[in-house]
Amino acid sequence: MVQVNLLAVGVAETEAIGACLASTSPTRAMVYLRGDLGAGKTTWVRGFAQALGHQGVVKSPTYTLVEPYELGNIQLFHFDLYRLHDPQELEYMGARDLFGAQAVCLIEWPERGGGELPDADLVVQLRVTGAHRQVFLSSLTSIGERWLTAAQACLTTFLSE
Ligand code: ADP
Ligand code: MG
Repeated sequence: MVQVNLLAVGVAETEAIGACLASTSPTRAMVYLRGDLGAGKTTWVRGFAQALGHQGVVKSPTYTLVEPYELGNIQLFHFDLYRLHDPQELEYMGARDLFGAQAVCLIEWPERGGGELPDADLVVQLRVTGAHRQVFLSSLTSIGERWLTAAQACLTTFLSE
């Protein structure tokens, strides 16, 4: 397991950390974004998507649960499961097909998905600290480990103890 502890002093830094991970992203992966409301999960996803060429806004798909993006060679699904009442709803919405696709899935509020979600390759944990955000990255599979290792050089300016 590779673990990296970072400090994002402002919004641009949270986005830049997302962009670093985008720059070494595999074309298929499962990412859990953990952290309270307002911790910066969607901000991280925005940096990720924009680094891959997305030009518009990135908002939490709070009511639609998932937002698809077609970004060059990367197919991206951004989930926000905050309003998921029952993990079974993921079945009804066809999420299983999305999880099985050649795609990167970025999932806010994965804890709401119960046992319906595939295991994460990478976990992004965000925590509010004063006016800043702590960002903990950890890999849980060999895919995640290669990914995070490749991103290390890009992340050095954000390293914290
Ligand atoms: P979440 O998706 O976790 O609910 P958001 O990404 O919507 O959180 O961000 C919540 C707020 O935190 C936004 O106003 C965003 O600009 C701000 N924010 C994100 N990263 C940082 C940071 N590193 N320092 C200060 N504010 C941040
Ligand atoms: Mg959000």
